[in-house]
Amino acid sequence: MRLCLSCYRLWPRGAVYCGTCARSFEGRLCPARHISPAGARACIHCGATELTETVASLPLGWLTSLIAAAVVFGIAGLVLRHLGWGLTAMVWLLAHLLGVEPHDLVRAVNGLISWAITGAILLQFLPPAQRHAVMRFVSSVYRSALRLVQFLLKRIVEIVIGRRA
Ligand SMILES: [Zn+2]
Ligand SMILES: [Zn+2]
Repeated sequence: MRLCLSCYRLWPRGAVYCGTCARSFEGRLCPARHISPAGARACIHCGATELTETVASLPLGWLTSLIAAAVVFGIAGLVLRHLGWGLTAMVWLLAHLLGVEPHDLVRAVNGLISWAITGAILLQFLPPAQRHAVMRFVSSVYRSALRLVQFLLKRIVEIVIGRRA
C-alpha cells in the first residue's frame, strides 16, 4: 500500500503513479518510463524533456507489519495473563523438580518467549528462501529440544515415582 501525500489516497503496492493526481511516486518518468531523479529537467537515460511531476508518498507495508505485530503482542499478552497462574504453578513445580531457583527459571522462560516473538516478527521481513531455511533450522532445533524435554520429563517422572515407591 502506498499513500499519496498530495491527495491522501491509498494505492496498491507496486503502484508507479498516483491514480488521482497522476504524479509518479519514485522520481520523474519520461514517456519511455525511464526513472530520473526528482531534480532532473530531462530524462537522464534518453534526454526526453516530457517528465512526470513527482509526489511524496508513504509506503505503508511496514505499517501493516507493525499492526500485525501489535495484534500478536496483544493476543500473546492476553493469553499469557490468563495462562499466567497455570504457567507459574508449572514453572514452580518444574523448578522444584529440577532443583533450581524458580525465579531463574521464570526469567529464562520469559526470555525465551520474548526472543521467540521477536524472532517470529523479524522473520516476516526476510525473503521467502531465507525464511524457509530459518524455519527448517528452527523446527529441527525444536524437535531436538522436544526429544530432550521428553527424555527429562520421563526421568523426572521416574525419580518422583521412585521416591514415592
Ligand atoms: Zn495523488
Ligand atoms: Zn527516458
